[in-house]
Amino acid sequence: MTTNPHFKVGDRCFSHYTRDAARGISGWGTIKRINHTVRNAVHGVTGDPLPDTTWYDIRADEGHIELCDDAHGTDWNMARIVPPDIAKRYGHGDDPAPYGVDEHGTPLIMCKCGIATEPYAPCGSPECQVPYVDSLGD
Ligand SMILES: [Zn+2]
Repeated sequence: MTTNPHFKVGDRCFSHYTRDAARGISGWGTIKRINHTVRNAVHGVTGDPLPDTTWYDIRADEGHIELCDDAHGTDWNMARIVPPDIAKRYGHGDDPAPYGVDEHGTPLIMCKCGIATEPYAPCGSPECQVPYVDSLGD
């Protein structure tokens, strides 16, 4: 069964598989790269054809890279990563950094021009002459 990768580069995701609260690993991260897709796999016991599974390089919010798959984007119980809305449904709460994090793990904000940027820092777009101040400081 041919299926398309569920995630694209830049998407946010959550992994209960990599989450390790004791080590300070939140499980949240951003898709960095589509690694590869496994096609034409069959179930190890039944031999039934399986949907394609795509593996991704994920930059965890803590800075390290993980390799995780989407379990075809159809079986979230099997997937190592899930989208934020599914994570919330499973009781993992809201994405703490919907626009990703900087290299220090600080959540980015969305600039008025639509570019994710560091809090209180200009995004770099010529349209934005002044730092965008979000409601974070309210
Ligand atoms: Zn901007």
